[in-house]
Amino acid sequence: MTEPVRSVVYVNGKYRPSEEATISVFDHGLLYGDGVFDTMFASYGYIFKIDQHLARFARSLRAIRLEIPTPIADLRRAVIDTVARNGLNNAYIKVVATRGISAEPLLDPRGCTPTVIIFARPYLSLADPAKVSTGLHAKVTSIRRVGMQALDPRIKSLNYLNLVLARMEAYAAGCDEALLLDDHGYVCEAPGYNVFLVREGHVVTPAYSILEGITRETVLELSAELDIPSEIRAVSPYELAVADEVFLTSTAGGLVPITRVDGQAVGSGKPGPIFSQLTRAYDALQESGRFGTQITRAAIG
Ligand code: PMP
Repeated sequence: MTEPVRSVVYVNGKYRPSEEATISVFDHGLLYGDGVFDTMFASYGYIFKIDQHLARFARSLRAIRLEIPTPIADLRRAVIDTVARNGLNNAYIKVVATRGISAEPLLDPRGCTPTVIIFARPYLSLADPAKVSTGLHAKVTSIRRVGMQALDPRIKSLNYLNLVLARMEAYAAGCDEALLLDDHGYVCEAPGYNVFLVREGHVVTPAYSILEGITRETVLELSAELDIPSEIRAVSPYELAVADEVFLTSTAGGLVPITRVDGQAVGSGKPGPIFSQLTRAYDALQESGRFGTQITRAAIG
């Protein structure tokens, strides 16, 4: 496989060319998935909701009891600077913190020196843009979302295997995306996305067993502005079958329509009117720069 093209990557306080931006093979993030991350994006020269993303990142750090030496305010400057140093106006940005390295590569979280990485790539979307225009076909997978009794989905941890396996199950069934149920059989999320459905003009999104998505929050805010009633509650698989519309939300991809679930058309079988209305509002919001932080070279050196 080819490596991404050369870029500048932040590793533990230093900016390095990507080919020199290395971390130890003994890093607990790699060996044990012991770490957390957050993904944000920039468009039109603005980083969207950077403080909400960094607040979620801080919550993830706290939830796994990982203390990094960099205060969040410094990390904020480093995020902006990483995007600026890469000369990007539209970017996919990732901040990762791992437990790091210890004297011996054993499953012991004590005495580790953490690793902090920030990288920025030209904007990337989780979903194929051609499929997004017509709608994705989803499969409700047999694989359930890891429950909060095991690893709370609100922690944006490096343990994405659960979601990777669900997506592989969907691909094996000839579908584009997976929809996962939680321990109790309620719809929760998709790999890298929150889920919405539309019933009788109301947008509905699951309340539990989910990552607290920033795009989900934005869609709920936009719904309120557009006078579209919203409900945050338990969603059973039955509701996917009878929904007028189903769509996914994510930083990497925005709003993505689902037009078929387990082989059955959702509503008309085409991306629906409320999805389209919200997508237009979401795009206009990006262009307006509202909730955006301008990409300027914050630090010199
Ligand atoms: N759920 C999971 C498991 C995710 O990884 C993501 C992507 N960060 C989301 C939902 C959507 O969250 P956001 O809108 O903040 O990108």
